[in-house]
Amino acid sequence: MNREPQATNALLMARRQAAIPRGVGHSHQIFIARGENAEIWDVEGRRFIDFAGGIAVLNTGHRHPAVIEAVKNQLDRYTHTCFQVLAYEPYVELAERLNAKAPGNFAKKTLFLTTGAEAVENAIKIARSHTGRPGVIAFGGGYHGRTLMTLGLTGKVVPYKVGFGPFPAEVFHARFPSKLHGVGVDEAIASIEHIFKNDIEASRVAAIIIEPVQGEGGFNVAPPELMQRLRALCDQHGILLIADEVQTGAGRTGTWFAVEHSGVAPDLITMAKSMAGGFPISAVVGRAEVMDAPAPGGLGGTYAGSPLACAAALAVLDAFEKENLLERSRIVGEHLAKGLTRIAAKHRCVAEVRGLGAMVAMELCKNGDPTRPDADLTKALTVEAAKRGLVLLSCGTYGNVIRILVPLTASDALLDEGLAIIAASMNAVAGS
Ligand code: PMP
Repeated sequence: MNREPQATNALLMARRQAAIPRGVGHSHQIFIARGENAEIWDVEGRRFIDFAGGIAVLNTGHRHPAVIEAVKNQLDRYTHTCFQVLAYEPYVELAERLNAKAPGNFAKKTLFLTTGAEAVENAIKIARSHTGRPGVIAFGGGYHGRTLMTLGLTGKVVPYKVGFGPFPAEVFHARFPSKLHGVGVDEAIASIEHIFKNDIEASRVAAIIIEPVQGEGGFNVAPPELMQRLRALCDQHGILLIADEVQTGAGRTGTWFAVEHSGVAPDLITMAKSMAGGFPISAVVGRAEVMDAPAPGGLGGTYAGSPLACAAALAVLDAFEKENLLERSRIVGEHLAKGLTRIAAKHRCVAEVRGLGAMVAMELCKNGDPTRPDADLTKALTVEAAKRGLVLLSCGTYGNVIRILVPLTASDALLDEGLAIIAASMNAVAGS
């Protein structure tokens, strides 16, 4: 029997504060007791709709039955061996299936790790190993993780990078396009040419890494033309193109990988989060000869590609096929974008509604002026929504973007209930 915890959120928050470093921030003062698909119940028995999805981890929802069953079956056989010591089939099968799914008409191989940051770290290691070059170009406003290399790649300084430097050398930042801020693809490409001219020669650059849709940076969508021109630039200079799909991958944008929208095949793709429905695993999928550059023993990790997480990831792949979740992702995205657009029409503070597939966001600015981001209003909105039973997340360089990462398995009725809470919360905190 599951005993309901005898605690309140307030009591647990006090214990959290005493026991856990403050650097581990919190968006909400809610302790979860149970999750089911797109709903959660807290320790006080209150129900919430989950529009955060564990930060893009729960495309298939909390406790998807097929994921639970696959992990239970795996638990009954073995839980861990370290793949480098004793190999196991779920790792190989998952690699084969991702190799077949990744874009590009060339042979591919896949490496498994545990977190998104680790996948990015390894993609850089592999790119350097293959090219023999040190340089990496990332994008302003981008986010790639909390380890030192991935922090170096990350564009946003506060709060991620404060006090943690120095970061690895030979990392440079290009401009990411933004319709709202009047930055086009030409400017983005010109900023890379500028780096080649002033900071590091193109012949010394191993990789360009880009999120097809910036996640933490505010759901900024890379125009297909940017991806195509990056591909051409990389080909011209022998640079590898890495798509960081940790947040966009696993079907979030209506295709399994978000780069598929641009028709571009990157050399390496990183993924994590939703690929295993809540179990910790990440991957680098890439061109076979590039992936094979590091010598035996150069890649891996004790828990990397845990059999439990591999089993979960295989179940997620099956669920996407059986439940037609890619199509559902597109439908959910349209539904949410329409809903947010309706809300935006009533409030001057909404500067833009944007996104790709079921990655949907709205940016809040004073008077709707993009140069005056309104983080306080954004925070007030998430607090108000939580009071009304909706877990919402913010993002963006200035913390003024509301983003939705609801499970794709949520019903239309639940999406509407969540949108109605956003509308009511906006009326309560934003004015007209
Ligand atoms: N890359 C991207 C694009 C991400 O969104 C994230 C996490 N938000 C990461 C890397 C890091 O992943 P993790 O937190 O699992 O290390």
